[in-house]
Amino acid sequence: MAQIAMVMNLDKCIGCHTCSVTCKQTWTNRPGTEYAWFNNVETRPGQGYPRGYEDQDRWKGGWRRTDAGRLKPRSGGRGRRLARLFSNPELPALDDYYQPWTYDYGNLTGAPLGDDLPTAPPRSLIDGRPTEVTWGPNWDDDLGGGPGHLAGDPVLRQVADKVRLEYEQAFMFYLPRICEHCLNPSCVAVCPSGALYKRIEDGIVLVDQDRCRGWRMCVSGCPYKKVYFNHQTGKAEKCTMCYPRIEAGEPTVCSETCVGRLRYLGVILYDPDRVGEAASVEDEKDLYEAQLGCFLDPHDPAVAAAAESSGIPHDWVEAAKRSPVRALISDYRVALPLHPEYRTMPMVWYVPPLSPIVEALAEGGHDGEETGNLFGAIDALRIPVDYLAGLFTAGDPAPVEASLRTLAAMRSHMRRVNLGEPPDPAIAASVGMDEA
Ligand code: SF4
Ligand code: SF4
Repeated sequence: MAQIAMVMNLDKCIGCHTCSVTCKQTWTNRPGTEYAWFNNVETRPGQGYPRGYEDQDRWKGGWRRTDAGRLKPRSGGRGRRLARLFSNPELPALDDYYQPWTYDYGNLTGAPLGDDLPTAPPRSLIDGRPTEVTWGPNWDDDLGGGPGHLAGDPVLRQVADKVRLEYEQAFMFYLPRICEHCLNPSCVAVCPSGALYKRIEDGIVLVDQDRCRGWRMCVSGCPYKKVYFNHQTGKAEKCTMCYPRIEAGEPTVCSETCVGRLRYLGVILYDPDRVGEAASVEDEKDLYEAQLGCFLDPHDPAVAAAAESSGIPHDWVEAAKRSPVRALISDYRVALPLHPEYRTMPMVWYVPPLSPIVEALAEGGHDGEETGNLFGAIDALRIPVDYLAGLFTAGDPAPVEASLRTLAAMRSHMRRVNLGEPPDPAIAASVGMDEA
């Protein structure tokens, strides 16, 4: 089968939120969706949006293993669904999203001069009353990770024993997020009305508005919390991967407007018969490799022929051969999935940020782009590898390290090429490039 997938290169995200705003103007600028951001950009470390969505014990998203060894969505089970028909305790509250607020500009511009930075929280007019706002789509904006963040960030908390941060070691980066258009979508599995479905032609996951009955099991069942309830229409809504644009051969709005040009779109061919087995491998740390094992090589004539005979258009098979997404994921292995341990087989992958080396280990070079340094100093990167592994590989540092080493080697190689210096054969060979 064919799947539209996305890779985002986190080194290039500047946190400008252009993607969020253009997406909102296109898809969620209607009453009932004020709080909904199909695309949001989180500062990491941080709690994300909605607040604490990665705390799977709190929200009970994702999948669980039954006593019989079968995988079921956490919110599955007709009895449990009925019990929650009128009260679903696993839904984030509106406070975990936010209510749009207006700043008190009068106080901001009219306050007398003082010695301190203003610290007053923003206020929102809710029911005509000024109300303190306690969270928003990027509340953590520009706060670096330090000791104070250990309690707030669920991923950092998990790796806290290994990552003991001092303020001088603080770090931050941006993580843009959309629906993952998963190969094994729990939102589809939990919907009692059959309103959520995965399109057979391109894998895009959509909500049939006519069938949705507002159960909101998809909101609690999605571990990435990427389904939103429209409280005006009483229906669920989510990222559509801009399917009308995709059908017209155009990129998604977020990809087209991205200031950093960091979003790659492409077609991936995969074997649906391998998905169930891959999603239920015992050890979470095997999930990254298991998902890679679902993807097919379109350059293999047998794969291409089988794809076309199953109804995938010739153009799509050709697109899969040229797909930058497939190359970044499968050939170069620099892109990694977000939280594979949720077992939904996400299809928006990330090139992890290659942060600079922070300690004297950088002797002989001035930053993380010197391959020799990075090979010896992976523990001295500004962003701890364990933290990235908690995001992208269920805690296994090896694939993250391999990706960072390749990125460092590629950057070093291209720098030499662009400066007209002779390429280092060892570096060129390590990224699969010839010396030219
Ligand atoms: Fe469904 Fe959530 Fe996966 Fe999107 S990210 S396909 S809403 S389970
Ligand atoms: Fe990052 Fe691009 Fe979004 Fe700006 S538009 S926040 S660079 S993903």
